[in-house]
Amino acid sequence: MAWSRERRLNSKLNTYAKYADHGKGECLKLFQKMRRMQEANHHGVCKCISCPAVRRFNEMDGGHYISRKHNATAFEPQNVHPQCKKCNSSASWGLSGNTAEYRKALPEGVADYLESKSREIKQFSKHDYAEMALEFEDQIEIEKERLGV
Ligand SMILES: [Zn+2]
Repeated sequence: MAWSRERRLNSKLNTYAKYADHGKGECLKLFQKMRRMQEANHHGVCKCISCPAVRRFNEMDGGHYISRKHNATAFEPQNVHPQCKKCNSSASWGLSGNTAEYRKALPEGVADYLESKSREIKQFSKHDYAEMALEFEDQIEIEKERLGV
């Protein structure tokens, strides 16, 4: 029997109250998983946003175009795409190797939009994170159904 939404929300709030980051880390993980699944074809396969690598969604990272340090764009769907571990780890070392390719792969205007939006100051409460986490979990369930996993 599935938990009611209220019960799920209260459980998240209790958990996030113990986290110094108010739940941002868990929310990012869920969001990245959701985005990898959404971008996968019906075989569960996706292409790296910044190189030709093709892998199953669960072997990919969810790579950010603008660093997830920036709250205003951390949860923008267009800012997170499947990315192979090689490209994603080179980005986190501060190497610019794949950023230009990532930029080129985004629809026209999206990179400019994200770059501008990332400068906005955005703060999330633990309640915001709890609400987002439930939404991402629901979307992940929908994707699991679609992908048969
Ligand atoms: Zn790659």
